[in-house]
Amino acid sequence: MPRKAYFSWLWGIGTIKTTTMANRWNISKAVEDFVEERDKNCAYCDSKFTDPKVSKKGMKTWEHVINDLNLTDKDNIVLSCMSCNSSKGAKHILDWLNSDYCKTNGINKNTVASVVKEVIIKEEKFIRH
Ligand SMILES: [Zn+2]
Repeated sequence: MPRKAYFSWLWGIGTIKTTTMANRWNISKAVEDFVEERDKNCAYCDSKFTDPKVSKKGMKTWEHVINDLNLTDKDNIVLSCMSCNSSKGAKHILDWLNSDYCKTNGINKNTVASVVKEVIIKEEKFIRH
């Protein structure tokens, strides 16, 4: 597949994900509605979501703060921009916060949304004990 076609195919999947992921990842409608209402901006970088037609990087994606697909309650599900989501990937939240991406973008445990802060506090306790 030519490189350009491959990327548009990849972005296509990303777009499908944002519309159907809620069911695919077993996130309940109640959680989905709650999170949609709570996370008006990216839970990590606080930027406003953009229309995917304008910028894929800024489009809204469903994100598990802790990368455990069984954790689908509102304390672990957030909306994040594609840019943060793809940077975080499979990294643990605490490791990701030390990444160059977070440093460059001024993202740290004091700047993230409060739902993410709660997860960080729990994770730090868990790691210390
Ligand atoms: Zn972001």
